[in-house]
Amino acid sequence: MQGQPFLLNLTALKASRSSVRREVRRGSVAGISLPYSCVPEASEITAEVTLELVHAGIMVRGTLRARWEGECRRCLGMAYGDLIVSTSELFVQRAFSPPPKLKSGVVANLSREDGLDGPFTYMGDELDLVPMIRESLLLELPSLPLCRQDCPGLCPMCGHDLSDGQCGCTTMTQDPRWSALDALKAPAKDVN
Ligand SMILES: [Zn+2]
Ligand SMILES: [Zn+2]
Repeated sequence: MQGQPFLLNLTALKASRSSVRREVRRGSVAGISLPYSCVPEASEITAEVTLELVHAGIMVRGTLRARWEGECRRCLGMAYGDLIVSTSELFVQRAFSPPPKLKSGVVANLSREDGLDGPFTYMGDELDLVPMIRESLLLELPSLPLCRQDCPGLCPMCGHDLSDGQCGCTTMTQDPRWSALDALKAPAKDVN
């Protein structure tokens, strides 16, 4: 589907007798990024969700799948992986959501999409999954990505990538715990 793949029309759900509808949507979402990792803007995100009409609004449950990319914090090489995130969120009709109080005491009809706590919202017959997708995937992005769990990183002396083998900069510093033994082994001074 072109345009806004994550914008769901609720007419069929509201008209159906079962009050449950399954949707599988694929598309991209911008703005899912941390300093060292992101879901690339052009990469495909899959949302498999069921929408259920409940008393308070619409319950959206399902699974989000995406691929993340980043820079390994040890070797600075490419790191990537898959995100599979379960989601379960109540969306309330925007007009009926209780208006949260702002710091200034001003009351406004703002919600989660505006960066505040509270439920996600839908308007009329349209429910946009994008804010939920963005928030759910952002929470699962690795903040300190690694290319692999046992990445040895770079040599602190010469910068050689230790994944390619040792570099030859053998660190000559001895384990300090042995120096105490060396002292004991040193010839004792003549006390006389
Ligand atoms: Zn690495
Ligand atoms: Zn080295």
